[in-house]
Amino acid sequence: MSKLNFAQCQQFIKQVKQYLPGGVHYNFRYSGKDTIIPFNKGRGSRVWDLDGNEHLDLFCKFGALIVGHYNLEYNARLSDYMEKVLSVDQCDLEPLVCERIVHYVPCAEMVRFCLSGTEAVQNAIRLGRAYAGKPKFVRFRGHYHGNADNIMGGKPQSPDYPTPDFYEGDFLDTEGRAPQIMQEQSFMLPWNNLEALEQLLANYADQIGVIIMEPICINGGGILPKPGYLEGVRRLCDRYHITLIFDEVITGFRTALGGAQSLLGVTPDLTVFGKALAGGALPVSAIVGKKDIMQFYTDQKVIHAGTFNGYPLGLAAVLATIELLENDTDCYQRMGSFLMQIAQSLVDAAQAVDIPMVVQGVPNILIFHSQNSALEYPEGYNDDTKLRDILITRLCKEYGIQFSPISRFYSNLLMEETDVEFFQSRIGEAMADVKKITSLFEPSPVAA
Ligand code: PMP
Repeated sequence: MSKLNFAQCQQFIKQVKQYLPGGVHYNFRYSGKDTIIPFNKGRGSRVWDLDGNEHLDLFCKFGALIVGHYNLEYNARLSDYMEKVLSVDQCDLEPLVCERIVHYVPCAEMVRFCLSGTEAVQNAIRLGRAYAGKPKFVRFRGHYHGNADNIMGGKPQSPDYPTPDFYEGDFLDTEGRAPQIMQEQSFMLPWNNLEALEQLLANYADQIGVIIMEPICINGGGILPKPGYLEGVRRLCDRYHITLIFDEVITGFRTALGGAQSLLGVTPDLTVFGKALAGGALPVSAIVGKKDIMQFYTDQKVIHAGTFNGYPLGLAAVLATIELLENDTDCYQRMGSFLMQIAQSLVDAAQAVDIPMVVQGVPNILIFHSQNSALEYPEGYNDDTKLRDILITRLCKEYGIQFSPISRFYSNLLMEETDVEFFQSRIGEAMADVKKITSLFEPSPVAA
């Protein structure tokens, strides 16, 4: 297998750069600017670019695409619903969709839909603060909750008063942010550290209305909560009357239909979903939670609004996704097993050329790190590993393997054994290329 040729893609990208800043639809300030590859065909786990090259899509639109490309049942459900009614304020799907979500998700007694994860997070924080009647929220290092001013990047400045502030090299820092917004609204702590939270609450619980976290820290590198940690946070929230929010934008529907909370056994007060909630082709996010909190919307105490909230096609997509996952009874196990085989092949290929490699996370959301042992804390993700991870992601693209940014990879419902074989047929050469580059920076052996 030789490297792919991207002549047409490059031509197209030149054109696109005239219109889209940077030629892309989003940007963060991290050094590994991704190679842009435009695609015009997808089947199952494969996508084809403008040059006709075939790629394995482990990117899955940042983890959203759980149904797979050209999922005929999903597509039919959407087009059938478009035939029924296109765009109205309320359609006939709400009870069906909400009933399924309430059935599966432990904290869900009521549901509100919106569009993006960022938007759902902001609305959940507003609701949680209103319910608790206190103005600030706590978030954690390495957790990502969308690209709003008040919640993106930073690190705690002082252990005594740990409000987030900017630091040199923070790829989530941005110009144009409302000044002091992070410091005024929030505290930031290390995650998986109950003592740090206890200490903060002992001093400032009267200001803190919300604690928000990813229950499994995917954005921080695929780190699981320590035994007893989530239970401890839950207890503290109850003691101090704080609304606990789980951000399940990535884990929702990818770990289980009930989200990570259904597996971890700790129930938050509110949860936000996004990404895979509607299968991955359409934007739908949701805020779900306990009735007495959601009641604040009913009573008009808290505003939640949006033109496209609950749009029919989006709801049809959520329902289709839930039913596809429900009816395919061993899908989580099957998808997870294919992805784990891919992970093992990655580790083997790296080891074959003496590049350190670990894979961590949960079976349908995996993250690789080019280092010898699993990452235990988001803060432990060092620059050398980061650079190698970016290089691996970048070079794999040239052999038709599409990882998601920040070295993640995802499964989908249509994944099959041949996808594992496709990966295995290409990863060896890609890793050999990685080795060629990294060895340029390795100290040469000292002559005896
Ligand atoms: N929360 C988490 C955990 C996320 O990973 C993301 C996006 N990666 C968001 C929120 C924001 O979602 P969106 O990009 O849809 O605004």
